[in-house]
Amino acid sequence: MQEAQPPEKLSPSSTLRLKDLVPVFYQEGRYQGDPVTLGVGGFGRVALMTTLPHGKYYAVKRVSKKHIVAKRQEEHMLFEKKILKAVQCEFIVRLHGAFKDTRYIYMVMEFCSGGEIWTKLKEVGRFDEPVAVFCTACVVEAYAYLHKKNIMYRDLKPENLMLDTKGYVKLVDFGFAKELVRGEKTYSFVGTPEYMAPEIIKNQGHDFAVDFWSLGILIFELLAGSPPFSSSEPQKIYAKILDGELHYAPYMSEAAKSIISKLCRPRPGQRLGNTKNGIKDIRHHRWFSSMNWHKLRVGQLEAPTARLIRKGPCYINFDRFPLDQTKAEEEFSGWDRDF
Ligand code: ATP
Ligand code: MG
Repeated sequence: MQEAQPPEKLSPSSTLRLKDLVPVFYQEGRYQGDPVTLGVGGFGRVALMTTLPHGKYYAVKRVSKKHIVAKRQEEHMLFEKKILKAVQCEFIVRLHGAFKDTRYIYMVMEFCSGGEIWTKLKEVGRFDEPVAVFCTACVVEAYAYLHKKNIMYRDLKPENLMLDTKGYVKLVDFGFAKELVRGEKTYSFVGTPEYMAPEIIKNQGHDFAVDFWSLGILIFELLAGSPPFSSSEPQKIYAKILDGELHYAPYMSEAAKSIISKLCRPRPGQRLGNTKNGIKDIRHHRWFSSMNWHKLRVGQLEAPTARLIRKGPCYINFDRFPLDQTKAEEEFSGWDRDF
């Protein structure tokens, strides 16, 4: 990343420059001396970087422009940056800057040092109820913020939920988010199969209600360790979703089963969160009876997730990835003018 040509600075208000960032290196182990990679997605990689004078950490997502064009993701990428730039919410990862050069676009984000919820879930098998309640409550707050701005998230899953240093949960990855006029529907086929609502699969047009469906799936997965509708073949997952039968585990509480079944109603108009009282109905459900929503919002609640976070080098809560030696080709079509 250091080899990138001097990138254009995006926003005049932002003082952070890409060239002020230097990679953080693995201190030990098999990749000792290599730059730290926090994650690799379908699109690019996310590197851990730091600013020399202040020693602050950032997660820098780098995506090949050629790849974006090849996969026709230009609009998604521009929208992801636009949304992240605009949002200011404690439960959504903050974007500190966006840059580009001839090969890549870069998004410099706040570093969520606690790692992915997905990793933690695999480590412990399944979450106990207080941890699941806390994680879900953070997502509910992020949803309330986004939906008020008429933005659907559409990619809820444990891989896209990160923990910050305190154990608070933040949404990352806005590649599928979309702005939607209230009362309108959209017809795109997006999401991760296990988390897709029936109306997306049936191509009936969908709206904000798909986020409440996926919230029910998330609660199930956090409590059980795997989602309710799964298979190695997407077609079989879709068939199960349309079938709609939820098989709860014996250790799930009545309150948990109740909120999941109310969120995963086949009819979007009947889903908890999507009826006349909106998201309030979710906050008032008895599964959240122990939740102090105000304290959560102001960050005064002690996070039960904190004990899942390991102490050690700053990358200790992440899987390790080998160095990427390849260099993307240059791309000059100009789609990234406004990035
Ligand atoms: P995909 O679309 O395939 O899910 P992506 O290329 O859009 O992936 P992200 O999901 O945004 O990329 O990020 C990939 C991974 O990088 C995350 O799952 C996470 O492990 C890590 N990551 C992303 N953002 C951050 C962050 N702000 N702090 C720490 N790690 C992060
Ligand atoms: Mg992702």
